[in-house]
Amino acid sequence: MNKYRDFDNYLKEYPNEEGYFGKYGGTYLDDPELIKAFKEYADGYNTIAQSSRFIAELRHIRKNFQGRPTPTYHCQRLSDKLGMTQIYVKREDLNHTGAHKLNHCMGEGLLAKYMGKKKLIAETGAGQHGVALATAAAYFGMECDIYMGEVDIKKQAPNVARMKLLGARVIPVSFGAKTLKEAVDAAFMAYRKEYKDAIYCIGTAAGPHPFPLMVRDFQKVVGDEAREQFIEQTGHLPDKVCSAVGGGSNSIGTFIPFIADPVELIGVEPGGRGDKLGDHAATICHGEEGVMHGFNSIMLADESGEPAPVYSNASGLDYPSVGPEHAMLNDKGRVNYVKVSDKEAIEALFMLSRYEGIIPAIESSHALAYAIKLAREVGKPESILVTLSGRGDKDLDYVIEHYGYGTK
Ligand SMILES: *Cc1c(COP(=O)(O)O)cnc(C)c1O
Repeated sequence: MNKYRDFDNYLKEYPNEEGYFGKYGGTYLDDPELIKAFKEYADGYNTIAQSSRFIAELRHIRKNFQGRPTPTYHCQRLSDKLGMTQIYVKREDLNHTGAHKLNHCMGEGLLAKYMGKKKLIAETGAGQHGVALATAAAYFGMECDIYMGEVDIKKQAPNVARMKLLGARVIPVSFGAKTLKEAVDAAFMAYRKEYKDAIYCIGTAAGPHPFPLMVRDFQKVVGDEAREQFIEQTGHLPDKVCSAVGGGSNSIGTFIPFIADPVELIGVEPGGRGDKLGDHAATICHGEEGVMHGFNSIMLADESGEPAPVYSNASGLDYPSVGPEHAMLNDKGRVNYVKVSDKEAIEALFMLSRYEGIIPAIESSHALAYAIKLAREVGKPESILVTLSGRGDKDLDYVIEHYGYGTK
């Protein structure tokens, strides 16, 4: 049990001032203007976001706009079906806009306001981050430019409509493969030009410093609430905590409050349809150390060292790198990173829908699938807390077309 003692001062030790988590993280940019922009960003975050005024205003937003705290719920019927393990879910699907992403978007928007900025810039792939950020921009009365590949714009019509309704400009990116990677490049270029009036808002706990630190801090509300609610309901800590890992924001926010507790932390990566490069996005399970998008971490690279193509049936999980703090926690052995397949995730989605009346996002279903697997294997009573990062409404058409209704 002593291994948890090493983590008593964890939050003071990591990251260091340059944004390093051990050897991971940092700022790998070669453009002097962008370096200047990120330096200003980090300074702003380190001063403004620690002030009591900022913290009080963010607390007010969490409660009155987002609808926090979200509940932690004991899945009694699901647990009974599986055996002796008790499964609990932290319901980020009930956070305003239906997922955890708004937790950091509201923090980023508030920081923009305190820094005197008038515009929020970001890229989006499936559109989830774009919708969350457009929501924040509407709340703060700011402009919002969302860069999106032309291919994704065609695929994600409902989210494009949402962003426009919320007042954001959706800017089509028409070079290269016209998807997320090009959208990231376009958003960086825009930020470089406009950083005096705008801030760039990343969608996960990755990117150059201060993003991994800042997004972790804004997402920590998930784990803080869940830990308190779990103890209040059961009188003890959970044995295990499971979260899905794409870039790593909902998981790091869930894990950090448990970091010094005798609790097993499990990050669940998308195993997709197989172990071949291009068939999954299980970065820590299969990847190697490397720099991409301005930070050092573990990544999935092709033979030439470029980010590899990735695949998952959960579009929010298909990212070829991972937040640097996860790379370090993997090295330290504090978090156990595992993967589940497309199919296992969908089975979990069907089970939670049928037995508990909650339709989870396919991303979140990955975390749940691993908990279900453990519950079937472990022949003793234990408890698992699962972060339900979002709701499944956005996935319904896809699920029904590819997997049907899960009749059993
Ligand atoms: C984006 C998304 C994720 C993955 O992102 P992380 O940064 O790894 O948390 C997971 N679940 C949902 C519902 C999402 O929208």
